[in-house]
Amino acid sequence: MKCLVKEINEEIPCRNKQIQLLTNLLGKDGCQLPSSIFVYGHSGTGKTLVTLAVLKRLGIITSHVSCIEFYTQRVMYQAILNQLSGTVLSHSNDYTSYASCDNIGDFVKLLREIGHNNGNARMAIVLECSERLRDCDANILPLFCRLQELTQDTNIVVIFISALPFDKFRSSTGYMDPIIVYFPQYSKDDVVEILLQHKPMKYSEEFYRNYVSLVLSVFYQATKDVPELKHQVELNFPAYCEPIEKGLAEECDIRHLWRNIEPQLRKAMNLVYLREVSSGQYERMQQLTEGHAPDSTHANVTLSAKMELPFYSKFLLIAGYLASYNPARTDRRFFMKHHGKQRKTQAMIKAKERSSNQLVGPKPFPLDRLLAIFYSIIDDSVTPTANIFSQVSTLVSLRLMTQVGGDDQLDAPKYKCVVPLDFIRTIARMVDFDIIRYMYDYS
Ligand code: ATP
Ligand code: MG
Repeated sequence: MKCLVKEINEEIPCRNKQIQLLTNLLGKDGCQLPSSIFVYGHSGTGKTLVTLAVLKRLGIITSHVSCIEFYTQRVMYQAILNQLSGTVLSHSNDYTSYASCDNIGDFVKLLREIGHNNGNARMAIVLECSERLRDCDANILPLFCRLQELTQDTNIVVIFISALPFDKFRSSTGYMDPIIVYFPQYSKDDVVEILLQHKPMKYSEEFYRNYVSLVLSVFYQATKDVPELKHQVELNFPAYCEPIEKGLAEECDIRHLWRNIEPQLRKAMNLVYLREVSSGQYERMQQLTEGHAPDSTHANVTLSAKMELPFYSKFLLIAGYLASYNPARTDRRFFMKHHGKQRKTQAMIKAKERSSNQLVGPKPFPLDRLLAIFYSIIDDSVTPTANIFSQVSTLVSLRLMTQVGGDDQLDAPKYKCVVPLDFIRTIARMVDFDIIRYMYDYS
């Protein structure tokens, strides 16, 4: 067992504790598996990597599925059954699944059958993005929590993976809590250690370590996501080595090398996560701008000005726009799931034609209406913090929204969103939000 942990550790550094814990929980060949495990932590902290590596080393038959993909229970059950039974959909089997299954009873029965056929081998179901299960049918989450109990003699474990803590899952059904494994974010030293694994052969470890630390000193504040940092480290390395290749500097000339690359890093910093072009194109653009004066085209300037809005601010601005142009009485219709049927009368259509909100201009709205719309259009993992409020005032100081009335007003201040439709559509497109669908004038 120790040897196994060591092997995985060599492959995946800086996750010793989690690897150890998971290996102990799952136990050796033939051991009884725990009924469920809950793995959580931020994106890019190695949850998937570690879980799958441990399961593989322990020889547990694994089904790995993402809950985002399933639009019906049937698709989910069949995908899991296919993976556990080793059925691969292909031309030769006419793309038929292991079995047709669309309810919990059949699912449990078929799982037992597969377990039996596999000679009671140990099996695991890994559910990525398991927070999505909360939005599915009410029975699904309890089903997976109690799967081992329901399938009786089958040795099966369900591993939930999520970016949310388990508190957000708790419901009143009273089923047993899973064992929780937390993946904290990597420290700067950890990230250096991980990225050193991908060192090019040509250069010494000392040199590459220095380089990675330099890059992290710029990017670590903005993101702790390993894949993103790895991408930046790899992307900027050729530029860092350029003076050495040309014979203008030595490996130990760190200050020279740093000065050479610093402007490029700062520029790349603005585009963390927001790449509009592939790495290859980016490198070519980099080479082109070296020859020309930087910031040559006007379009680029305005675009990047928009890009620098943080993610939540974009949604706040969209919410502000909707609040300014939609009548408050229609909020129920646009932002509630079950708002009941709306009958369009001839008079309503006439009234709408008479007063297009786009022509009248934005109307003021109170802060709580803005926040209500904001929380309904954004993914549900945002907690209300002071940060959101300060972003509203940032939007005001950027003149994307205006505050109506003075500060000394007795009741809460009101705001207006003063950006044009084109602008808000560009912003909405960046965050993949179909704003037109939510607009009263266009619906
Ligand atoms: P998400 O919540 O977005 O699914 P995750 O926590 O599942 O993220 P992984 O997919 O496991 O993250 O890790 C992302 C990538 O980061 C891996 O493919 C791997 O390249 C790298 N990575 C993360 N942690 C380590 C590590 N300790 N050692 C080596 N590579 C790592
Ligand atoms: Mg993952």
